[in-house]
Amino acid sequence: MKAAIYRGEKSIGIEEVDAPVPGPGYVLLEMKNCGICGSDLHSYLGHWGQSTNASGHEVSGVVAECGEGVTNVEAGDKVCVECFSHCGECRFCKVGAYNLCENLRGASGGNHSGFAEYVIAHSPSLFVFPQSLSFEDGAMIEPLAVSYRAFRRTEADYQDTVLVIGSGTIGLLAVAVAKVSGVRQLIATARYDHQADMAKELGADYVIQTPQQDVKEEIPKLTDGLGADVVIETTASAGGFSDALAGVRKKGTVVLIGGYHKPLEVHLGRIVEGEIRVTGSSCYGYSGMRKDFKWSMDLISSGKIPASKLITHRFPLSDIQKAFEVAADKKTGSIKVMVTSE
Ligand SMILES: [Zn+2]
Ligand SMILES: [Zn+2]
Repeated sequence: MKAAIYRGEKSIGIEEVDAPVPGPGYVLLEMKNCGICGSDLHSYLGHWGQSTNASGHEVSGVVAECGEGVTNVEAGDKVCVECFSHCGECRFCKVGAYNLCENLRGASGGNHSGFAEYVIAHSPSLFVFPQSLSFEDGAMIEPLAVSYRAFRRTEADYQDTVLVIGSGTIGLLAVAVAKVSGVRQLIATARYDHQADMAKELGADYVIQTPQQDVKEEIPKLTDGLGADVVIETTASAGGFSDALAGVRKKGTVVLIGGYHKPLEVHLGRIVEGEIRVTGSSCYGYSGMRKDFKWSMDLISSGKIPASKLITHRFPLSDIQKAFEVAADKKTGSIKVMVTSE
């Protein structure tokens, strides 16, 4: 089968590899759609290691074959996949915090993931989605679940002003979740015009365009000098963290949800002086009584969040290099770049 394999910095290409066979507890999927995530771009750009197997975790597909002992899905099911697999036995799994599993590993168990014709996935990581959803919608369930969890971890509600730093896919989907949750005021930052337009379309009341505008100057004007009650920081950059601390009110909350690949130099004084709570949000797990994937699936299938609106480009697997080039260069107007089966 064809699989996209990294070939060093800014290089990825198609190779012919053996079709994988699902072991016990694992499933073979025929890939239909797989989005390029910011974390994939970190690998592509050489910020962190490059897997020798196909990567890609925002995947939707059809179950082709089930390994021994798999009972939760069957051949022909339309499925999406949590990017990690958990053991179900450790101290964190036992209390439902399975995204913090002590034995966490990739859902493919060291095999090929989404940027390949066939994908291996651990069966507990699979979710069957309704026939009515397209495979593109199915591939958007994963990133929406990330944003959904980040929003829930802010504990914001209708009385709050929410500031989202960064208008890539995760930031924009956080804007959409905050909007449907009915927060009082919704502000986003965006670097590019097309991101700002999308943030407004998804419900942002105001977009601060960086770097022309400064969060430190704009937020007081928009919040009667108080600051945002909660901030979701999606850029994993020193500038983004500094903006989050500049934008949040005293006793407010900052939730970090980015792929950090190096230490950041940030002035932390404001956390102390303002008694600001800073926390992280890791992938997805349970929010309340349901999994974030389930909440996310509902938000898409009910039409409340038109997540596939974020898909600006589509490339077949054979054009993987072009797909990554476009995804890495926001001047192309890209938000979510989707890789499709041929
Ligand atoms: Zn991702
Ligand atoms: Zn575990």
